[in-house]
Amino acid sequence: MILSHRITHITPSGSDGWEVFYRARTMKKAGQPVIELTIGEHDIRTHQSILDAMHASAKGGHTGYAAVPGTQALRQAVATRIQIRTGVTTTADNIMITPGGQAALFAAHTAVCDEGDTALYIDPYYATYPGTIRGIGANPKAIPAYPDHGFQPLASDISKHAKDAVSLMINTPNNPTGAVYSRATLQGIADTCIEHDLWLISDEVYESQLWDGTHISPRALPNMAKRTLVIGSMSKSHAMTGSRIGWICAPIDIIEHLINLATHTTYGVAGYIQDAAEFALNQGAKLEDEVSAPFARRRIITETLLAKQNIVKGSPIQGAMYAMLDISATGLTGEGFANQLLDTHSIATMPGESFGAAAAGHIRVAMTIDDDTYTYALQTLLDFAATIAA
Ligand code: PMP
Repeated sequence: MILSHRITHITPSGSDGWEVFYRARTMKKAGQPVIELTIGEHDIRTHQSILDAMHASAKGGHTGYAAVPGTQALRQAVATRIQIRTGVTTTADNIMITPGGQAALFAAHTAVCDEGDTALYIDPYYATYPGTIRGIGANPKAIPAYPDHGFQPLASDISKHAKDAVSLMINTPNNPTGAVYSRATLQGIADTCIEHDLWLISDEVYESQLWDGTHISPRALPNMAKRTLVIGSMSKSHAMTGSRIGWICAPIDIIEHLINLATHTTYGVAGYIQDAAEFALNQGAKLEDEVSAPFARRRIITETLLAKQNIVKGSPIQGAMYAMLDISATGLTGEGFANQLLDTHSIATMPGESFGAAAAGHIRVAMTIDDDTYTYALQTLLDFAATIAA
């Protein structure tokens, strides 16, 4: 029996740069103390008040099928949030609730790409991006964003491939680089999308984790609302990764098609999770600030420790929960460095190469452990780099 090309080709075979991560997990399982600076999972759990709202909703009977597009109240809460933040008129009909941002990314590409179409994305990229595009039968094409430009993509680089493509996916604040796209970068992207008639899929799941600059949603730029699909999520903003709750904000006709897709795939999101999400959004900034505060502190720890040495170079951490560190002065690849650091100091990081060719010679550090352990781990990493470079 032969499985479909589509499913067997979601992830390429062979090395994908995630070996360090899996090795760290194996070491941990075997009882070795490993410090993990690898994935984007908070070190705090979902706030008790959100859990209470979830519990009350479930106890109150919201355990049956929920409305496929999302509850009206949650769609409205998301629409209100987006309109307040961006100034773009947004109604509940512009919103579909999804089981997390990842499902939203998949649905968005399903909506705009046909099989065999070329879908662009920016390298370095969040690990699932090319697989998401392959999963819907389209062809992923990476556009590099270079460290010398602060990992901001250049419109001229996107233009080179735009005429053969139907969509472009961007992510700001960015995982893995920590870059927040400037107005100039986003205007260049918008101009390119308009010139080449591209759909823009804008992954904004880190919008609440902003340390420097302003988060600009490209949907708010002139003439962009009709060609932009915004991806949002409660995973990062409210430490609700396991609840699987996110959304797509798009033109109403696209949402209508996406609801049809959801009817034939997810059949919606659990009602008690949606009620908890609605409660959380209605609390305003307080809960979100509590969730993002540890990363703001660790960003300062990172920049302070980096400033005391000159072997490892950090990219500006403008947003999100990661630091992208240039370790090329050690003469090692990101993969080589991450492997050696794990072997010698039991500290696990992600090689830049696992996020694409443009992040070669880098490692990504997730600032997702308590401040003291984080400080110790980062200092050990920097000392290790100095020893190798000497
Ligand atoms: N986009 C980016 C850039 C991410 O980093 C993540 C999760 N790490 C997601 C989307 C998906 O998040 P979720 O499905 O939990 O909402």
